[in-house]
Amino acid sequence: MKYISTRGNAPILSFEEAMLTGLARDGGLYVPKTVPTLSHADIAAMAGKSYEEIAFQVMRPFVGDTFTDAEFMDIIAKAYANFGHSARAPMVQLDNNHFLLELFHGPTLAFKDFAMQLIGQLFQVALNRRGDRVTIVGATSGDTGSAAIEAFRGLDAVDVFILYPHGRVSEVQRRQMTTPTESNVHALAVGGTFDDCQSCLKDMFNDFEFRDGVKLAGVNSINWARVLAQVVYYFSSAVQLGAPHRKISFTVPTGNFGDIFAGYIAKRMGLPIDRLVVATNQNDILHRCLSTGEYRMGDVIPSISPSMDIQISSNFERAMFDAYDRDGAAIANVMNELKTNGGFALSQGVMDVLREHFESGRVSEAETSAEITHSLAAHAELLCPHSAIGTQVADRLRDTNTPMITLATAHPAKFPDAVEAATGIRPPLPPRMSDLFERDERVTRVDNNLDALKAIVKDRIAN
Ligand SMILES: *Cc1c(COP(=O)(O)O)cnc(C)c1O
Repeated sequence: MKYISTRGNAPILSFEEAMLTGLARDGGLYVPKTVPTLSHADIAAMAGKSYEEIAFQVMRPFVGDTFTDAEFMDIIAKAYANFGHSARAPMVQLDNNHFLLELFHGPTLAFKDFAMQLIGQLFQVALNRRGDRVTIVGATSGDTGSAAIEAFRGLDAVDVFILYPHGRVSEVQRRQMTTPTESNVHALAVGGTFDDCQSCLKDMFNDFEFRDGVKLAGVNSINWARVLAQVVYYFSSAVQLGAPHRKISFTVPTGNFGDIFAGYIAKRMGLPIDRLVVATNQNDILHRCLSTGEYRMGDVIPSISPSMDIQISSNFERAMFDAYDRDGAAIANVMNELKTNGGFALSQGVMDVLREHFESGRVSEAETSAEITHSLAAHAELLCPHSAIGTQVADRLRDTNTPMITLATAHPAKFPDAVEAATGIRPPLPPRMSDLFERDERVTRVDNNLDALKAIVKDRIAN
């Protein structure tokens, strides 16, 4: 299995190389050269299998010869062993033909654990075999960082640095990043927005001297292995509701387009997905783009769903790559235009392809709160604000004859203020992390300044 860059001008890599590299050297994102497919019979045979068995079957063709079957099975088993629910991704019913896929039973209570716990195990096996070590730098709007720190803490082949926007993550998110005591964990509070953090991260990757000097590796949602891990629960949930014998739709609270892109890959692999619905908060660049064909950055307005507070949706580049018929030069052009002019317009032909796969809706702050209130009253379900954005859009757009699965991306206890404001109930943390608020915090404040950030990384790994 070979991986190519969306900008058509970087080395072709194996799964292992693409996973360890993250961002391609031409600034693009790695995608598989061809997407393997599963037959109707293959998918039908998933009924009744465990999450781990389905994970093996879905991901195996993408991994190539990077791992043996036995190694890969062991990696998957370890990745999901720390989850607080034996089904890993259980589903509950909200309404007739409307289901909630609970992706928040991992160690940091958000869906990012599905990918990050797997990546931790993949890196450990690959790096130990190479006798190598890497420096992981990630940017986070809250959940990626906590999931990465949880996945890599204490691993001796890895230093992990996480850039988060100071004052713009929830207290639970912050504490999950600042309280681990392992010396390979470095939480950096940056004076800026998530997009500033992400932009610094991209610049670090584009500085090849720095990148090679510290052996930089990326685990942001641009890392192909993360997208891959997320493909699995589209299969496991759809099969529970009767796929491949009938079509299933999904609504996905979306920021960086990673999670929903995984759904698109599931569809391309042969899962009969009817509709893929993008649900955004007031930072609605994706909804505006899918509605108007104009991808234009605005200012990030902080919301009660902070993990979706972004205006550049990195993984959208992967969807555009396919919509442009895999023309890397065309993608390099539009991404250049984004950098110089703050936006670009997509042609009618490209928009037609994108609209064939994706629909979208936007939810305001007031609507998000109202949905959290409504969900408790109507379905006895306490939702986190991101998940509420999903169910709101799903209810607006779903046709009641096709099962709709809305992805619940975080546990309500991860965003207790918004949930309490809407319902009067302050959701408690699960018992396994109930002492989070008593633990000591360790964090470094940094200006939104690339050189300052690079200096900290170099200095810390030298010691
Ligand atoms: C990261 C995140 C999202 C957005 O996921 P993308 O893959 O960036 O679209 C939504 N909800 C929560 C809780 C998240 O942590």
